[in-house]
Amino acid sequence: EASVKVIDGKKVAKDVRDEINAEITRMKDSIGVVPGLAVILVGDRKDSATYVRNKKKACEAAGIKSYEVCLPENSTEEEVLKYISDFNDDPMVHGILVQLPLPSHMDEEKILHAVCIEKDVDGFHPLNIGQLAMRGREPLFVPCTPKGCIELLHRYNVEIKGKKAVVIGRSNIVGMPAALLLQREDATVSIVHSRTRNPEEITRQADIIIAAVGKPNMVRGSWIKPGAVIIDVGINPVEDATSPRGYRLVGDVCYEEAIKVASAITPVPGGVGPMTIAMLLSNTLLSAKRINNFK
Ligand code: NDP
Repeated sequence: EASVKVIDGKKVAKDVRDEINAEITRMKDSIGVVPGLAVILVGDRKDSATYVRNKKKACEAAGIKSYEVCLPENSTEEEVLKYISDFNDDPMVHGILVQLPLPSHMDEEKILHAVCIEKDVDGFHPLNIGQLAMRGREPLFVPCTPKGCIELLHRYNVEIKGKKAVVIGRSNIVGMPAALLLQREDATVSIVHSRTRNPEEITRQADIIIAAVGKPNMVRGSWIKPGAVIIDVGINPVEDATSPRGYRLVGDVCYEEAIKVASAITPVPGGVGPMTIAMLLSNTLLSAKRINNFK
């Protein structure tokens, strides 16, 4: 369908990063402060290591100083908490990110709670989430992936106010905050999860769908109202003998079917993924500006 707009997350992320670079230069030139981001990785999950490496590269390209700590799988909770506490006190560090998931012997809640909210650039501290949920309150930080989804809608001039939005998935890091954000933007929001009966009847009403499930191609063309806007957060490896790596990445939405029905859709890869990192840089800059009272 010629009229379907592919939402180019790579391009938008590049625009956002250019804006961030300009702001970082302006701040450095006028007050001599360079934003700093600390990343803590525990264990040796390959995917987590890749995310951390990408975040570090993106920081360097943006002019953000990155402080990386890689701890072995068998580290103790106390060790992680000690690093967090040191970074909390370090004036060079404006953002602290603990790469999830943590090893199972660690208490995720306790660890995320230890990050001071002024440096919680992931937006996972319960106080930030609570403020996101409350009317008339402003969280210090909004989680990066859902923030990236909304940024894509804004930059493609998709009206959210008064629209029916359906979020598929309710995780703490994507689905739930995405639903809260859409609601803040005056959408009427439904949440579909693993216990939802006949999810396609709900998604078919949606003007906007954000899919964050982790199930390859779950959302079929028949689930989508003609003209709807689709944001596909899913990143799922599926076997592909023709690819050099033996697999390729697909979203939660069946792209080939959806593109025939939707008015706009994010591809996987090249949609939400690049936006997540751009929003992390944006949150780190925001934090450095706020801590230094730089307008
Ligand atoms: P989680 O596994 O934490 O959450 C998945 C959610 O989907 C849960 O709420 C679950 O419901 C729901 N769900 C599972 N099965 C179904 C089903 N059959 N029908 C409806 N809902 C279902 O995943 P995340 O939120 O962390 O990630 C989701 C996807 O997004 C993954 O593919 C992940 O790789 C990707 N991702 C991409 C990012 C990016 O930068 N683009 C960043 C983060 C994640 P219930 O609550 O009932 O269990």
